[in-house]
Amino acid sequence: MSSDDAAFVPTRIRQADARHLAISWADGHESRYEVRALRLACRCAQCVDEWSGARTLDTATVADDVQPRNLSSVGRYAIRIDWSDGHDTGIYSFRRLRELDTAV
Ligand SMILES: [Zn+2]
Repeated sequence: MSSDDAAFVPTRIRQADARHLAISWADGHESRYEVRALRLACRCAQCVDEWSGARTLDTATVADDVQPRNLSSVGRYAIRIDWSDGHDTGIYSFRRLRELDTAV
C-alpha cells in the first residue's frame, strides 16, 4: 500500500459527540465532520441532479439536529449513512470524505 492509499483508508469511524463524526485514517490523520454538513454533502440521486451535479436537496428541509443513526460499510471503499431524517441512500466514499475534510 502506498502512502497515498493510506490517506483514503479509515482505521476508525466514530461519533465524536452529538454534532461531530470523527474518522482516523491509516496515514495518521484525524478528521472531524459536522454531521449536518455531511448530510448536506450527500450526493445521492435524491440530493443531487445526476446530470448537472447541482444540489437539488432543499437545505432548509434538513433539521439542525439531524444525526447519523447508523453507519454501514459499502464494500471496502465507502460507508452508507442512515440519517435521523429517514434519508438512507447516501453513500460516502472514503476518498470523498478525506477530500471533504481537507476542503474545510
Ligand atoms: Zn442523498
